[in-house]
Order: sequence, then structure tokens, then C-alpha cells
Amino acid sequence: MSFTLAIVGRPNVGKSTLFNRLVGKRLALVDDQPGVTRDLREGAARLGDLRFTVIDTAGLEDATDDSLQGRMRRLTERAVDMADVCLFMIDARTGITPTDQIFAEILRKRAKHVILAANKAEGRAADAGVIEAYSLGLGEPLRLSAEHGEGLGDLLAELMPLAAEFEEQAEETAPETDVTLSEEEADEGIADLRWPTPEKPMQIAVVGRPNAGKSTLINKLLGEDRLLTGPEAGITRDAISLQVDWDGLPVRIWDTAGMRKKARVQDKVEKLSVADGLRAVKFAEVVIVLLDAAIPFEQQDLRIADLAEREGRAVVVAVNKWDVEDEKQQKLRELKEAFARLLPQLRGAPLVTVSAKTGRGLDRLREAVERAYTIWNTRVPTAQLNRWLTGMVEAHPPPAPQGRRIKLRYMTQAKTRPPGFVVMCSHPDRMPDSYTRYLVNGLREAFDMPGTPIRLYMRGQG
Ligand code: GDP
Ligand code: GDP
Repeated sequence: MSFTLAIVGRPNVGKSTLFNRLVGKRLALVDDQPGVTRDLREGAARLGDLRFTVIDTAGLEDATDDSLQGRMRRLTERAVDMADVCLFMIDARTGITPTDQIFAEILRKRAKHVILAANKAEGRAADAGVIEAYSLGLGEPLRLSAEHGEGLGDLLAELMPLAAEFEEQAEETAPETDVTLSEEEADEGIADLRWPTPEKPMQIAVVGRPNAGKSTLINKLLGEDRLLTGPEAGITRDAISLQVDWDGLPVRIWDTAGMRKKARVQDKVEKLSVADGLRAVKFAEVVIVLLDAAIPFEQQDLRIADLAEREGRAVVVAVNKWDVEDEKQQKLRELKEAFARLLPQLRGAPLVTVSAKTGRGLDRLREAVERAYTIWNTRVPTAQLNRWLTGMVEAHPPPAPQGRRIKLRYMTQAKTRPPGFVVMCSHPDRMPDSYTRYLVNGLREAFDMPGTPIRLYMRGQG
């Protein structure tokens, strides 16, 4: 897993230029199609040996009036929240403007890591601006020329140590401090289930084959809230995501296909919708895999569901077009059987029948989403885990390769979203997968965590 870099800053400082340079020709969706402006662009970036995701708050006109200022702020905040690192760009030729200061403020408050970049820094004309940039209080500015490709080595040098850090986190091994959580601390964890708020909505992706009914579903959910970002043309119709209050549950829905269809942007963009769905999985906390009841569990559906599981997302399967199904009982049995057989890795994940068209079953879908999200956030107190572990080992001791029994010493939950556990044991490398599966399935049952991806790591005690 790699990290996400957001390029933020006011219009015209050179964000897109840098974005394009980092993404090269690999950007799937380009801006040359009339009517396509996305408020957040995302691309696969490469710099030296580093691979990462870059997002750009492109598509903003100059901020000449208040509504645009507000939108720019919201958009930036969104990008900042999505990113691991923010590259804050200023124009060294213009120097610092009041708008830059607004951005600096947002970043100081919200961003995890900020790299300050003074762009257009080729030549002497930029010197004064670079020096001025120190006044933002965000450290030493990086001299950059996005247009001429200068300063990219320095950017790489700043990103490398951060990348290494994220790499470590992504390995999902428990940080040492977590392993030694006291029981009290672990119990406290239960309270920090972050329930979605309008400021931090639940991130949902609706994925599925073309014609499964994604647009219909999304539009149904959006209802009156369709126009979210304001009346300015070009922004609403191709948003990557939209936020909606789903009967009291603040959610942000990721999928561009639906919105685009409405905007009648054809061909080229339409064909990207499946890839977009896959990308949406990355942003999501809960993934709704939408199936067409007439042709459920096609290869493509299975791939998407499997991807969502591997990415550690909470998954809900929704079978759509239930309104045209005659033999509902019989069909439901078949579906459940196929689900269990074809997606054993998602054992116990909810399967809900819906009609996006009539709206039937959407309340149950909402409940399933909430429940999946809650389970995904589960935290099990350490004491309970270890009592459980003792029982599991007594019932079925681990194997004894070469006559030496693997000892399971201690266990703790290292992370949530999805739940991840660390078992301290002798010879973790010799632990057979079958025993790990035994423990994972046991955890699911004992602590009521159906459906959610569960990670279990064996660790030696050094
Ligand atoms: P954005 O609105 O922040 O995405 O800015 P753009 O990437 O569209 O760039 C705005 C203008 O600045 C364009 O005319 C670019 O060609 C120019 N520009 C971008 N980077 C540089 C640079 O490093 N040096 C100079 N001199 N101009 C640049
Ligand atoms: P997408 O490609 O996944 O976005 O699918 P669409 O939302 O465009 O739907 C594809 C077709 O299925 C359209 O003709 C919809 O009207 C139809 N459709 C979507 N949901 C339902 C449903 O619940 N019942 C029925 N009967 N048709 C539906």
C-alpha cells in the first residue's frame, strides 16, 4: 500500500502542472473532453522509485467571489482529509497573498504532514517569493519549478522518509505501544468508535457491473440533495463523490459513473466507470457491491468483492432489481448459497435484496451498512481476547512441527477498521495457515464480527 499526496493551493500556482508531471501519461481521465471538470482529480504518480496516489484540487476558477472562496475551502479540506501528505503550493513569482494565508491556516489545523513548495522558482525573479514563503510558518519552502521539472529531486528527498513511515504502517503490524496496551487502554478503545458526522461522513462506494443499477441507486439516495456543491456549472455534474444525509446517516458516496451519465458525457468517460468503481473502493470505508438479480455473482462482481475484502473494507452485498423477481424465496436461497460458496472470505457479510428503482429494501440496506460499519470498527478488550485464546488452544492445540509445539503466548487487538489482531507466539513462521484460519473463524463467531475482513498476525517475541 502506498500513500496519498494532495496538491493544494490557490488557483494558478501550478498545481495541475505538477500533477500532470507526476502522473505523466498514466492519468486515465484527461481534461480535454468538453464539459468534464472534476473537482478532485486523482492519479497514479511516480517519482523516482516512489509510487503513490496524487490528488489535485483542479477545476477551480480564480476565486473572485465569496461562493468560490467557500467552495475552495471545502474542497481543500476534503483533499487534506483524504491525504497522508499535503504539498502546499504557492507562486514564488507573485509572493504570498491573503488567499495563501487562508490555505496555510487550513493546513496547519488539519494536515498530517505539510510540504511547502514555492513554485515557478526557476530563475532569480522568484527569490523574494521564496523567502517570503518562510513567513507562512510551515517550515522551509521547497524550490520547485513544476513546468521545468526542477526541484523534483528535493521533493523526492522529502517524500522518501515519509513513504518509509507509511510503508511500515501499511504492513499493519502492531506498533509496539499497541501491543503493550494496558487492559484499561484497550477497553477505552471501544469508546472511540468514530460515528460518522456531517464533517466526517461515512465513506461509501457503490460498485458493480455496468447496468447493475448503480446510478439508479445513487440517485435514489441523493434524492433532493442532488445539488450539493452549489450552482456553479461544471462542478456538480462530475464530482467524484457526493455527500448525502441518508435518513440521518451522513454518507459520502463515491462513484462517478452515475453522475456522469446524467451529465451525458459519453464514450470515453463512460468506459472508465468500472475502473472508477475500483478506485472508489480505495476511498471507501463501506463498499456496497451491487448485483443484478438476473445475473448475480458474475466474474466481475466477484473480483470487485474480493478486492474490497483485500483492501480491508466493510462489504455489503446488495442484490438489485428485486422488483422483477418472481420466485423470491427460491432465488434468495440460491443467492445465499452462491455467496457462501463463491466468496468464503466474506463469510457472514450481509446480503440484502433491494430495488433501486422503487426504493424498496433501501432501509434494510442502510441498516446493513450501519451494522457492517460498526463491526468493522469492533474493538475487543485484551482480557477477553486472551481468555478466548486460552479456550481455543485447549480445544485444539497448535501443531508441533518437528516435534516442537508452537506456543501461543498472548494476544491483543492492534487495530480496527478492519479489526487486526496480533498473536505473540514461538515460531510464527511455522504457523500453518489452517491454524490461523481456525483462529480467525473463531474470532468472528466469539466476538460477533460476521462479514468484516479480519487480519491476524503471528509475531515472535524477540
Ligand atoms: P493550478 O491552477 O494551480 O492548477 O495552475 P496550473 O498548473 O494550471 O498553472 C497555472 C499557470 O502557471 C500555467 O500557465 C502554467 O503554465 C504556469 N506554471 C506552472 N508551473 C510553472 C513553473 O514552474 N514556472 C512558471 N514560470 N510557470 C508555471
Ligand atoms: P449502472 O450502469 O450500474 O449505473 O446502472 P443504471 O442505474 O444505469 O441501471 C441500468 C438499468 O437498470 C436501467 O435501465 C435502470 O432503469 C434499470 N434498473 C436499475 N435499478 C432497477 C431496479 O431496481 N429494478 C428494475 N426493474 N430496473 C432497474
